[in-house]
Amino acid sequence: MIPFDYQRATDADTAVATVAPNPRATFLGGGTNLVDHLRLGIAEPELVVDVTRLPFDRVEPLDGGGLRIGAGVRNSDLAADPRVRVRYPVLAQALLSGASWQLRNLATTGGNLLQRTRCGYFQDVTTPCGKREPGQDCSAIGGYTRNHAILGASPRCVAVHPSDMAVALVALDALVHVHTREGDHTVPAAELHRLPGEHPEWDTVLGHGDLITAVDLPALPFAATSRYRKARDRASYAFALVSVAAALDVADGLVKDVRIVLGGVAHKPWRATLAEQALRGRRAVAEEFRAAATAELADAQPLPDNGFKVPMARNMIVAVLSELAGEGRRDEPA
Ligand SMILES: Cc1cc2nc3c(=O)[nH]c(=O)nc-3n(C[C@H](O)[C@H](O)[C@H](O)COP(=O)(O)OP(=O)(O)OC[C@H]3O[C@@H](n4cnc5c(N)ncnc54)[C@H](O)[C@@H]3O)c2cc1C
Ligand code: SF4
Repeated sequence: MIPFDYQRATDADTAVATVAPNPRATFLGGGTNLVDHLRLGIAEPELVVDVTRLPFDRVEPLDGGGLRIGAGVRNSDLAADPRVRVRYPVLAQALLSGASWQLRNLATTGGNLLQRTRCGYFQDVTTPCGKREPGQDCSAIGGYTRNHAILGASPRCVAVHPSDMAVALVALDALVHVHTREGDHTVPAAELHRLPGEHPEWDTVLGHGDLITAVDLPALPFAATSRYRKARDRASYAFALVSVAAALDVADGLVKDVRIVLGGVAHKPWRATLAEQALRGRRAVAEEFRAAATAELADAQPLPDNGFKVPMARNMIVAVLSELAGEGRRDEPA
């Protein structure tokens, strides 16, 4: 680890004004990802600005329903919030499926969204990687690809996005608040992360020194009927091979509305828009769920070691939606 300076930010303006003009400065949240990168030599900042004392540590109600989650709220606290557990169970389940209790007690909302890929070649500084070093080739292509992407990859990078929380936030149509030198703006969670294209080094649409201050969960009544399911190699300390975040609104046996997002399959949380469109107005039965999932995955391009992700994703979509359809029916009058 190289030596670096440390500052504790007391207000957002100063934090952004300090980090944005200095390409070798960076924000520190819980440190559970950044500190690993300092140790591995992936990140070599000269200045680390700790943003955990900024006043973004609350979950607050929004006018008209919905919740505002401060960027500094710890993953454990968010998962335990009764409003989140009852009104947005997919988010609580996604958080609880990630990492371990110890890590979740430190990890923050902002840092979780901006954690970097777990591609083994990215983490091994002795191998070429175009995400770590812009312009370098991708070692995963032609290498071991069990954990890599089946959708939306490019010849420059086949890595997957690691955050479980981000997958749930896309399913909930969440909005990310960003503070920049030019002012504040919001980015839909679905547009925060990007596909690799020619520039795998850019994980998100944010600029250097842009500070995440909060995430809004809109009022989405049917989000109460939502679920997160994650397939992984171990029950704890394991990232998703495939995950599914879904919410389902059923009336008279028909799909009124639906959200389906996949994790572990692409460089960003993958909103299954084709499957969603195919399902609206259709019967809420496994046969329809399977047809929609098959349509969504028709363009999947598995790599030599991860063909299993295609049937895994399809079966998980069917299983999660079938469970939700069962739950929805219990709420309907006899
Ligand atoms: C063993 C292990 C297992 C794990 N398993 C999982 C898992 O299964 N699922 C999962 O989702 N995650 C998993 N994680 C990752 C963990 O969730 C992340 O490390 C954590 O969420 C990052 O949050 P943090 O606050 O510690 O971020 P930090 O490490 O502090 O920061 C991460 C990045 O975000 C930036 N940043 C932090 N806050 C802000 C802000 N407010 N605005 C702008 N930039 C900011 C930092 O500059 C840095 O680039 C695992 C981690 C470990 C070590
Ligand atoms: S898949 Fe992406 S992160 Fe992994 S080695 Fe290739 S360029 Fe790097």
